[in-house]
Amino acid sequence: MSDLTPMLRQYMSIKEEYPDCVLFFRMGDFYEMFFDDAREAAPILEIALTTRDKNRENPVPMCGIPYHAAESYIEKLVNRGRKVAVCEQVEDPSQAKGIVRREVIRVVTPGLSAALGKFNAAENNYLCGVSHKDDRFGAAFLDFSTGVFQITELSDLGELMDQLAGRNPQEVVLSEDEENSPLADRLSRTLGGALVNFTDNSRFGTDRAVSVLTEVYDLAGIEGLGLGGHPLALTAAGGVLSYVVDYKLGDVTHLSLPRLYLPTDFMIIDEVTGKNLELFRTVYEGRRTGSLLSVMDRTTTSMGARLLKRTLAQPMIDRREIERRHDLVQELVERQEKTDELVSLLADMADLERIAGRVSTRIANPRDVAALASSLGRIGPIRRILEGFESVTAASLAGDLDDFSPLIRRIVSTLVESPPHTLRDGGLIKDGVDEELDELREISRTGKQWIIDLEKSERRRTGINSLKVRFNKVFGYYIEVSNTNLQMVPEDYIRKQTLVSAERFITPELKEFEAKVLGAQDRITALEYDIFVKLREEVRDWIPMIQKGAGSLAALDMLLSFAVVAREHDFIRPIMTDKREIDITGGRHPMVEGFLPSGSFVPNDVHLDAEHEQLLIITGPNMAGKSTIIRQVALIVLMAHTGSFVPAEKATIGIVDRIFSRVGASDSIARGQSTFMVEMVETANILNNATERSLVILDEIGRGTSTFDGVSIAWAVAEYLHDSDTHTPLTLFATHYHELTELAVLKERIKNYTISVREWNGRIIFVHKMQPGSASHSYGIEVARLAGLPSRVLARAREILQDLEEGELLRLDDPESAAAGSRPHPSGQLDLLSAVTSPVVERLRRIDVNTLTPLDALSTLDELIRLSAQVDAEDESKK
Ligand code: ATP
Repeated sequence: MSDLTPMLRQYMSIKEEYPDCVLFFRMGDFYEMFFDDAREAAPILEIALTTRDKNRENPVPMCGIPYHAAESYIEKLVNRGRKVAVCEQVEDPSQAKGIVRREVIRVVTPGLSAALGKFNAAENNYLCGVSHKDDRFGAAFLDFSTGVFQITELSDLGELMDQLAGRNPQEVVLSEDEENSPLADRLSRTLGGALVNFTDNSRFGTDRAVSVLTEVYDLAGIEGLGLGGHPLALTAAGGVLSYVVDYKLGDVTHLSLPRLYLPTDFMIIDEVTGKNLELFRTVYEGRRTGSLLSVMDRTTTSMGARLLKRTLAQPMIDRREIERRHDLVQELVERQEKTDELVSLLADMADLERIAGRVSTRIANPRDVAALASSLGRIGPIRRILEGFESVTAASLAGDLDDFSPLIRRIVSTLVESPPHTLRDGGLIKDGVDEELDELREISRTGKQWIIDLEKSERRRTGINSLKVRFNKVFGYYIEVSNTNLQMVPEDYIRKQTLVSAERFITPELKEFEAKVLGAQDRITALEYDIFVKLREEVRDWIPMIQKGAGSLAALDMLLSFAVVAREHDFIRPIMTDKREIDITGGRHPMVEGFLPSGSFVPNDVHLDAEHEQLLIITGPNMAGKSTIIRQVALIVLMAHTGSFVPAEKATIGIVDRIFSRVGASDSIARGQSTFMVEMVETANILNNATERSLVILDEIGRGTSTFDGVSIAWAVAEYLHDSDTHTPLTLFATHYHELTELAVLKERIKNYTISVREWNGRIIFVHKMQPGSASHSYGIEVARLAGLPSRVLARAREILQDLEEGELLRLDDPESAAAGSRPHPSGQLDLLSAVTSPVVERLRRIDVNTLTPLDALSTLDELIRLSAQVDAEDESKK
């Protein structure tokens, strides 16, 4: 380092403070990157890597970008999960003694890229802090762009991962102690693409938490935050907040106070369940179209879209609160006219949460502020409509909408109707707002006329009719007189330039005017800028009210969306109950229904309860609709808990604390982790965590291994979910293992259902109707025919199937073994052996021992030995 220039030494010392950031080091009109930063950034930014100090033995690698294009380069790096520290020259280079002073003025990170204005409006953009002590964890979720700040405390890593899965943060901050810990490892493995950061331990200490919270929110103490008994939620909040403050990640005035929630406040939907149920993306193509969100989302604002997504990830479990939402949705469905009015008032509503964030961070532009005023202008009419509704929710939503008229008046009377984006070019402020601005504008407007008038009066005064007043960039305003009239030029004209045929003059009066007009334009721009900034500062005072109103509008938008979808798709209001019961009549799968021609989806009834039908074994042919029906039950239950109506004729839904959904390993190849191990880990999670209030749907669990093992595991899992003292969730178990249907004979609350098909002319017709009982056939070969397998293969398969079924029937007919206990009767694998056709076996089959004489027996034995030798020889020669 000693051989570095002073400037590079300054670079190194700043870089030391931000070792995990790419440092953009301002030098004149460029931001330069050096050493490893340059090596790493050059290929990402697609810029040339060069060197500095070429005379050194080891020249310093460097690359640079022009300062005015910085944002797009920063974005590229941030999108690659890198942090960027922007270091500016903080003194005028001409005044500097020695090296210009430089400081990092902001850091841009993936979790806070909202400050760049680049984000997906329909999603929250979370920066997350995780604190950890013994087995417990604290988590803080901060959406910098909207100011949402939520914290929670969790009793194990699994719970933490569930919370993270629901929010999908862009960036996670941990204490340095966690580097290389199992927690850090798990986070980087599971949070695809999120940046995991480690920061100074002290930021995650209680002292720092208290100091940063009191400082940011200007509190006397933190008692009012209600965090007593939740020390890890507190330190997580402190960790994430001090990270933001210490790294100068942006202004924090718009952040709402950290709000504590407990995981038990919401229904838990872990990541795998969310994926299986296709809440946000389809399993196979990963697309939004075809997901539950795409069916339920008819929101018109980004605020509503974000809330809907959050709600689907975390439905409510407070029955009264859910019913209050249903009340309003019902009113909205019934009062179509009012619903339509509300929808049109919300249409074109700006993203108030994000504008509030931009106002607070002082990056809101004139167009943002104008959009704010026009959006706030719709709040009055919305409130009045809501006040006419009967439901309690409508009243509380209306109560959160303040009167913004003073702010609207202030903005509308200050800004022009459609101001530009930029605030550097003027044209934003109305006439009549500021006297000086009006005067300056008058000068610049009347300047032209003044010139015309001056030309006229000078012509009169001098008698030179060809006299002209003109302007050019070099001399400014001047008077031009042709050579023929030079003798008539008055005394007070000052000569400026001689041309071939004319002379140019100025007068003191003309120069005074010029100074006024030319200065006016610059002054106008500066004045407009100041007036706008002052206005924006005034808007800052309204931020808490804007945020509260935005929350109310988001909720309204979401509930309107529920009403619109309910009407369009014929959804009904579910009855919520505290009993452990799910009773659905005429239920439909919200997404599959949409893919099929209208009216062709077959509705189904499903009943589950704690006393008689706790666990349903659902068998049925391939393609019958087993997966569809079990998922549709889970989706209907989930939708009901969000406050939405559901696709059914009638539905009574007991409150569910969490939904588990697992698909046998072979079904999840598309997830790229098709191992039996994954399937078992997930199954273990269900057995350990499902409560009697949970809903479990299992699709072909056990299929990822051999038939023997698979049936045995599936059997034992079902038995456990029925017999356990505490882990007895309502369960739907779709399976091809017909052996499991015997459980219904043995277990009180296990019932068999099957999805019937009709046979016609040796072909099958799928009727997709579920009824009590079990399936006798899988019709897999028929499905294989539909799929186009060659007829030779199909014929052979039928042959083998026949053999297998004969063997299977023998064993299933044996009631003794069924009653003997809980042992399954696996069939598949041994039967497969019997299907091996060999001349020896064929010969054996033909022996009739009743008629066989001892001599025949000996000769048959001899024949068999020879036959078997022949088979061996043939096998050998094939090898
Ligand atoms: P497999 O055992 O092969 O996994 P499955 O029994 O789970 O099959 P699903 O995947 O649920 O069958 O359904 C297969 C297809 O049948 C669906 O994609 C859908 O097109 C159709 N289907 C399922 N249920 C219904 C229904 N209730 N009404 C109309 N069509 C349905």
